[in-house]
Amino acid sequence: MTYPLEAGPLDVLSGVNMNIADGETVAIVGPSGSGKTTLLILLAGLEQPAAGTIEFDGVNITALDADALADIRRDTLGIVFQSFHLVPSLTALGNVALPLEIAGRERAREHARQLLARVGLAERALHYPSQLSGGEQQRVAIARALVHTPKIVLADEPTGNLDLRTGATIIDLLFQLNAASGSTMIMVTHDDAIARRCQTVYRLNDGRLIKDESHALSA
Ligand code: ADP
Ligand code: MG
Repeated sequence: MTYPLEAGPLDVLSGVNMNIADGETVAIVGPSGSGKTTLLILLAGLEQPAAGTIEFDGVNITALDADALADIRRDTLGIVFQSFHLVPSLTALGNVALPLEIAGRERAREHARQLLARVGLAERALHYPSQLSGGEQQRVAIARALVHTPKIVLADEPTGNLDLRTGATIIDLLFQLNAASGSTMIMVTHDDAIARRCQTVYRLNDGRLIKDESHALSA
């Protein structure tokens, strides 16, 4: 990935090679500025790499147009951001129902209500994001990311803006819901303890991605 900046192009990722199996849980660990978010943005099809390909079920998504990419995102991706990114004008329930409504699924609200209950927020269904704590907002975001049982869940430092205890609860919830839906999960984190809960760990340094083989051995 190359960011076109006024001062000249900035290459962020260069040696990235990874194969992820169906249902695999993958952690990407690396220091701040190493390109973790950039990598997730590419995987989500939100930016195009300057070189290289990203294949999803044998389809090269870097060759798709914006509409086709939007279809893939809608049908197969769930994303959890570090800073929640809930829609401020929608209630917790409205936020969780959104992916289902966009996909035209039936009984969206009912289904969303069930997911909200699974993340422990049945009582907060009609609260707006500004009326929720950070941990509660992230629980809504997790419910929203998983409500349509996406094939792939992308999570970018989902506990980065939360205190330690709230963060631990959020991570448990994310692993639980993910296991229940059987989704593939790619989680960016700088926390080794969280990374070790994933089947595979990669380390990103200076734009180069290296598989942590010691993790595979210890697993
Ligand atoms: P991480 O998530 O690992 O902290 P990022 O992927 O956010 O790292 O950033 C990697 C590098 O790319 C950083 O040096 C950052 O300054 C730069 N960068 C990130 N986003 C942009 C952007 N939109 N435009 C230009 N440079 C960017
Ligand atoms: Mg980041």
